[in-house]
Amino acid sequence: MATLIDPEVERQEILRHYRRLLRTAKPYLKEGDAKLIKKAFNTSLEAHKEMRRKSGEPYILHPLAVAQIVVEEIGLGTTSIVAALLHDVVEDTPWEIADVEREFGTKVARIVDGLTKISGVFEYGTSEQAENFRKMLLTLSEDVRVILIKLADRLHNMRTLDSMPRHKQLKISSETIYLYAPLAHRLGLYAIKTELEDLHLKYTDTEIYNELLNRVRQSRSARNRFIKEFVLPIDDELKAQGFGFEIKGRPKSIYSILKKMRKQNITFDEVYDLFAIRVILDVPQEQEKAACWQVYSIVTDFYQPNPDRLRDWVSTPKANGYESLHTTVMSRSGQWVEVQIRSRRMDEIAEKGYAAHWKYKDTGAIQPESTLEAWINKVREMLETNNSSALEFMDEFRQNLFVKEVYAFTPKGKLLILPDKATALDFAFEIHTHIGLQCLGAKVNQKLQPLSYQLRNGDQVEILTSQKQKPTEEWLQYVITSKARSKIKEWLRDDKRSKADDGRFIVEKRLELLGVEYSQDNFNRLLAHFKTYNAQEFFYRVAIGQIDGREIKTDLFDPTIEAPRLPSKLEPKAFDHEVQKIRGLSANMLVIGEQTDKFDYTIAPCCNPIPGDDVFGFETENGIVIHRTSCPKAVKMMSNYGNRIVRAKWTDQLELAFLAGLRIKGSDRVGLVNDVTRIISNSLKVNMRSITIDSDDGMFEGQIMVFVNDTAHLNKLIQRLSKVNGVLLVERFDS
Ligand code: MN
Repeated sequence: MATLIDPEVERQEILRHYRRLLRTAKPYLKEGDAKLIKKAFNTSLEAHKEMRRKSGEPYILHPLAVAQIVVEEIGLGTTSIVAALLHDVVEDTPWEIADVEREFGTKVARIVDGLTKISGVFEYGTSEQAENFRKMLLTLSEDVRVILIKLADRLHNMRTLDSMPRHKQLKISSETIYLYAPLAHRLGLYAIKTELEDLHLKYTDTEIYNELLNRVRQSRSARNRFIKEFVLPIDDELKAQGFGFEIKGRPKSIYSILKKMRKQNITFDEVYDLFAIRVILDVPQEQEKAACWQVYSIVTDFYQPNPDRLRDWVSTPKANGYESLHTTVMSRSGQWVEVQIRSRRMDEIAEKGYAAHWKYKDTGAIQPESTLEAWINKVREMLETNNSSALEFMDEFRQNLFVKEVYAFTPKGKLLILPDKATALDFAFEIHTHIGLQCLGAKVNQKLQPLSYQLRNGDQVEILTSQKQKPTEEWLQYVITSKARSKIKEWLRDDKRSKADDGRFIVEKRLELLGVEYSQDNFNRLLAHFKTYNAQEFFYRVAIGQIDGREIKTDLFDPTIEAPRLPSKLEPKAFDHEVQKIRGLSANMLVIGEQTDKFDYTIAPCCNPIPGDDVFGFETENGIVIHRTSCPKAVKMMSNYGNRIVRAKWTDQLELAFLAGLRIKGSDRVGLVNDVTRIISNSLKVNMRSITIDSDDGMFEGQIMVFVNDTAHLNKLIQRLSKVNGVLLVERFDS
């Protein structure tokens, strides 16, 4: 359906957005800034003039929206606004970085460059997104604004995801939850992180999202009433004591509600701190800490606190800069309520993160050495020391993003912040690479501990070293920081290489001694004989004595005997074919790709999709593999290899049976197995492939493999089984 577009209406719409941007930015603009923004706007407008977004809107509305987020929600200034307006110009139009540099200067050009994806073709097996991400991070280490604008870009794309085709929605949502939301969290952009998580849920688990959204809405007025009542005594007392303050009650995000429900296996109503009450204090910075504790004391005068849930990020801020005092108290209606106490400054940092940090820093009000800066330094270091593939790097980077932290001290009392579960060996590498490489063990709180000792908060750690100490492969199991890991790997690689050189020398001497020519053919005979199919590996094994050089004898090279063949690549697994056979799967069950073409495909063993499941195809060297969109591996696949995702949909032929697994738990009684099997085979005419039941202490746990037609069929079966006397739980399981 074509809609008629009135160019004048569109022009007005664009101008409205542009004026709004200027209005929001106005309080922060310096002389000449408005002119620069106008120039960037006009440039972008002209460059994108022929382009439209998937929704049909003029493209310029996207850079305008990104710039709006940048100023309004992140609090950045003119350079960032200009870069945001231009962020897609190089990628999508004939404009080049050199043009941007000429017109807008080096700073803007560098930021835009960081935001421009690497163009060109990617090798199979590398990950386009990972490469792009790495490039972006390289620029981050120079200018953090790149990543902030990238987050704004992503946020707007997520907000407008509706008009994208389904497979793009999945890909973009997955990337978002995999990388961008944790990144926003790490940079302290709480509001953006929360919105990204909720949007991810909206597109990947629409049904649950809508349901929870409805329930949150339904409970709104009751919630407001509750908050009002809860806050009343605190409010009075704070006023009486002369505090300047504001109290906010906000609901938890949909995503965090669901996370809690799943993690603790509880219902919506049981998620007790569905909302948190926030007390924001207007106090001068030097009185912040004392004021927060004073308010804590007032709150706990009225309500009994849960001592296990006191969090003091005022004395020791989180590594992302977050400062706040949290307590969970019991309300009079018997419900736990989380109360967050913080100053206005802390609140702004919590909401807007990095940018707010700098704002306070610029006015000279804030800290000499922020933990956030330390983190950015760490990213820079990672980029410099890491020579693994982009994909490995992204994985490690992600692991470093928002794991919990452990605080430990050097003997001189310097605080080191490491990821949770870091070891003494990680600590050693954190101090210095040399100390790490020669680490023998550690004295933790005066007690001797091994390399693998897991640090605890407050530990004082003295690293013991020895000149003779050398890293081993085993060390890789002891460390969790990417710095330690990559240093150890690097050392091992160098060590192996130099040992292999020794080995090569030994082999050459040996062949010389035997009078055998050092030819490719002879070398292949050697490799085949010792069953080592990689030259470096072979030389290394010779050097460390795993292969005895003296076993190299003349008869190995007898030209009258045909050289043994080096094995080719592994045969594709016969197992998959077997699985497919018992599934009775036919290649016509799925429609794959944008057309209705039929392809060969296999079913992923990790998530066992059956007709009715929401699925996608993933291209591999051995053809397309079908996964459920809820597969635990899906997020990673979609975010790392989005270009290999293909659309897949079940057709309506449902006569065939699919294998699915059910887990069943309950209290044991005589005749129970009989009842279960009767329901399966008699009443629902389901074929059972196997059943195993273990009982222990009056409880039983069983696994049943059944052939079903589709999810509806399976759900019916689950329902029936749940009603069997004694059965407490029936659920589907994957592989
Ligand atoms: Mn964009």
